[in-house]
Amino acid sequence: MKLTVDFSSLFAAARKMGDPIEDDFVLDTPREPWEDKLGTEGIELEDINDLEQTDGLLSYRGRQVLLYIQDHGSKAQEALLDPKVGKKYHVAECRTLHKMRNEGRFERYVVTNDISGEFYITGYDYMTRQPVEGKTGLHICKNCLTYLNYKGYSKPGNYSAFKNFDLSEFFQTYSSFFTHMPLRKTGEKEGYTSDWPEVSRAFRQEKGYTCEKCGVHLAEQPKLLHVHHVNGVKSDNRKANLRALCADCHSKEAFHESMYVSHTDRQTISRFRHAQQFQNPDNWQEVIDLADSGLRGFIERCRSGRLPVPEVGIDLQDDTQEVKGMLELAWPRQRLGIAINERDRMHAERLGWKVFSVHEALDSFTTFVTRL
Ligand SMILES: [Zn+2]
Ligand SMILES: [Zn+2]
Ligand SMILES: [Zn+2]
Repeated sequence: MKLTVDFSSLFAAARKMGDPIEDDFVLDTPREPWEDKLGTEGIELEDINDLEQTDGLLSYRGRQVLLYIQDHGSKAQEALLDPKVGKKYHVAECRTLHKMRNEGRFERYVVTNDISGEFYITGYDYMTRQPVEGKTGLHICKNCLTYLNYKGYSKPGNYSAFKNFDLSEFFQTYSSFFTHMPLRKTGEKEGYTSDWPEVSRAFRQEKGYTCEKCGVHLAEQPKLLHVHHVNGVKSDNRKANLRALCADCHSKEAFHESMYVSHTDRQTISRFRHAQQFQNPDNWQEVIDLADSGLRGFIERCRSGRLPVPEVGIDLQDDTQEVKGMLELAWPRQRLGIAINERDRMHAERLGWKVFSVHEALDSFTTFVTRL
């Protein structure tokens, strides 16, 4: 079910009225031609080194991307008929990619942030030698999933992360690591009722501007409190069908893969939760619920390793009590933490913390554990 509706004009109108309403949609700045290309047919890399990485994830000019090989040679015909024969696409700096980089192998690598799961491939029919081309649904590289421990994939017998892999969910999971999000697919036009801004405001007021899942109180930042339609039907405004959820909890609901929340907004919510004294998780499931979704692979690894449960989203204050940044996860006694932002990391280090990025902590997990 598609739940994304372009509702920006109504929201823009509502903003003019000065009404803070549920804001699933960030209004993007105009895109440059290469960005459009990145989101449609993709961009062919001249050099594998043009592929960057952001904390172990693949990026191109600062945008999160996936990488695939367009030229399927003699396998093209077969791959068009049966996606599992096709070459796997990559989403992380996995073992296979690492090897490709080292060997300087050149193939026609294409980067894209089209998250439809349909890939344009070329090649020839091995019987007739005639060129063939078309779109097919390639599969995700398993080494990438292992590398990220995506949804706990490394755990023996856990195939669901591969079997049910969904690109939009994947990109949403790591949205805090990037400042630009891929173009959203615009869904069907069915949507909210015209009185939605009032309904939403009245409902949030009735709930005391409190998230019904994590309990954070957001009266000071009402736009970070959304109203979610439980059955997914956005015109069904019966109270039984509504739930006040903070943007972070909301984006973690099923079928909300195309809902992006900025890292700043997630950190703000974390900050409120902490200030309100209820964010001291005592089990790993709570850590997963409260932490940024991009940390999940790492958290699962910690859970399997039976590490002590960390605090989530702690503010870094200097001597003057001024907030300088945030650690996404922290073990205060050991002064050990995980940061997403480079800025946060620098502040923490200046304050005497030992800080790992998620990618470093996963990659050198044994070293990480010795710090605890
Ligand atoms: Zn891979
Ligand atoms: Zn919440
Ligand atoms: Zn919702």
